[in-house]
Amino acid sequence: MSKQQYDFLVIGSGLAGLLFALEAASRGRVAVITKRLPEESSTVHAQGGIASVSAADDSFDLHMADTLTAGAGLCRPDVVAGVVAEGPQAIDALERHGVTLSAGENGGYDLGREGGHSRRRILHAKDRTGRAIGMALLERAQQDSNIDIYANHCCIDLITDSKLEGRHPVPGVTHVVGVYALDAGAGSIQAFSAPQVLLATGGAGKVYRYTSNPDVATGDGLAMAYRAGARLANLEFVQFHPTCLYEPRGSRFLLSEALRGEGAVIKSISGEAFMEAYHPMGSLAPRDVVARAIDQEMKRRGDRHVVLDLTAIGRERVKSRFPMIYATCLEEGIDIAHEPVPVVPAAHYLCGGVVTDAAGRTDLVGLYAAGEVTCTGLHGANRLASNSLLEAAVFALRAAHAAGEALEEHRARVAAWSPPPPWNPGQATVPKESVLVNAHWEMVRALMWDFVGIVRSDHRLGLAERYIALLRESVEQYYWDFLLDSDLIELRNLALVAQLIIRSAAVRPESRGLHFNVDHPGIADERGGRESLCEPVTGAVRLVRAGENPFARG
Ligand SMILES: Cc1cc2nc3c(=O)[nH]c(=O)nc-3n(C[C@H](O)[C@H](O)[C@H](O)COP(=O)(O)OP(=O)(O)OC[C@H]3O[C@@H](n4cnc5c(N)ncnc54)[C@H](O)[C@@H]3O)c2cc1C
Repeated sequence: MSKQQYDFLVIGSGLAGLLFALEAASRGRVAVITKRLPEESSTVHAQGGIASVSAADDSFDLHMADTLTAGAGLCRPDVVAGVVAEGPQAIDALERHGVTLSAGENGGYDLGREGGHSRRRILHAKDRTGRAIGMALLERAQQDSNIDIYANHCCIDLITDSKLEGRHPVPGVTHVVGVYALDAGAGSIQAFSAPQVLLATGGAGKVYRYTSNPDVATGDGLAMAYRAGARLANLEFVQFHPTCLYEPRGSRFLLSEALRGEGAVIKSISGEAFMEAYHPMGSLAPRDVVARAIDQEMKRRGDRHVVLDLTAIGRERVKSRFPMIYATCLEEGIDIAHEPVPVVPAAHYLCGGVVTDAAGRTDLVGLYAAGEVTCTGLHGANRLASNSLLEAAVFALRAAHAAGEALEEHRARVAAWSPPPPWNPGQATVPKESVLVNAHWEMVRALMWDFVGIVRSDHRLGLAERYIALLRESVEQYYWDFLLDSDLIELRNLALVAQLIIRSAAVRPESRGLHFNVDHPGIADERGGRESLCEPVTGAVRLVRAGENPFARG
């Protein structure tokens, strides 16, 4: 086994990971570890843009109010105020690192509008915003002599001093000292060590059968953090994007909400514009409302999809403002400027994640987190469109600053474990059958879609808990000896994250934001919500107590 020692380890090469790496590189040596090619991430798929106040008729207060409304009483207002106010600095940082955003005709930015926003405030690079951001940051990182990028290295587990000493993790005391990763090229497991580690592994869309997320979104960071002893919060709040291109074998390609911002209308196959009956904002209602309305209309009518009608935007505007969407749909045989596009909802964004404080610090010393893998208190029960790239950028900058400041203090602590001992593979109790790995992947994803999807019930959640327990038991039995297989590494994480989502949904006796349970259709407490918490130390999943703030460090 070879060993690699750095000042900063960054797990993931999306916006959060790369921006952190570029900032941290001025203070030490950085390794960016990423499980496939560096450009594979949700970041490069983002179309609509990044929300930040810049127009004369806009204000931080309005952006904050829109975020709080979407979050359905569960956002932490102090966190929202801070992130919104730091939007312009985050945009400056992206531009400093080479990102170019579309300019407006009269100076400033060309601003898009998306669902839930009361003003035009979405900065974009046409409909390729994520690609413009991801590729610019990657190019700069590749040019930086203080940054090494390890592609095709799938991180398996965080290394902590507690684990190495055979003790249970203690929040605020246990120190993360590195990570074990499967080097797919060499077929071996490497240990990386550093005093400061950033988790930037993105979301977990692959836990659902239909998702807009790329294949890398298997919840690895959530599972690694939980196994190491960090709390996760609000996992029941899964955002389903209402409009992914309908494709009978499973949807993937997303039709940005910005299309509806420009005038596209959701209709039934028979041409009825039904959204006005569900919400006064019609097709531009918040995403959870639109996704549930589509789900209900499809079931009521027995249709397999609804359609998005773009005729109001106009052919030339569609082609100039949405060139990538236009071209991709044309490849599928649909001229979106001319004919209605078949669409369905699909799992899109996880609002919950690893609990962090305002500086991106987790419960474990030396472990920071930024981007979709986190729960920072910004999104609450529902994410406002285009607030995720903003959150990823703001927290990457904050975490890079905090990790840089604490580098020397943490270095002494980690010295005892640098380099870390070799990976201990453990013992499999049954032989691995690849047929089972594939079958279990499908079973987890089907279970989540059918039982823990857009609309939930107590009965379905109860059944899901029993099924997932059996699936996890099976996966863990044959897991250990066969880690040289990234499908198995991901399946182990998918199954754990699925179980935690189910248990988080089960402890919430209400319908709030993205979590809708037919047996508890209303909000339990109009005065405000309480986060759900997965506590690895006790194994409990519970709602926070009155006055408890999981995002504040004592
Ligand atoms: C189709 C689509 C459109 C979107 N549009 C928008 C939008 O317009 N505006 C907006 O604000 N948000 C949008 N989002 C959401 C937004 O793109 C993501 O939330 C954000 O990019 C997440 O960035 P990140 O850096 O946290 O993670 P990601 O960009 O997902 O990067 C995660 C990285 O971690 C790596 N990784 C994962 N597991 C491991 C492991 N075990 N070992 C090593 N590496 C690992 C991955 O390979 C990847 O490089 C969209 C998402 C999708 C899927």
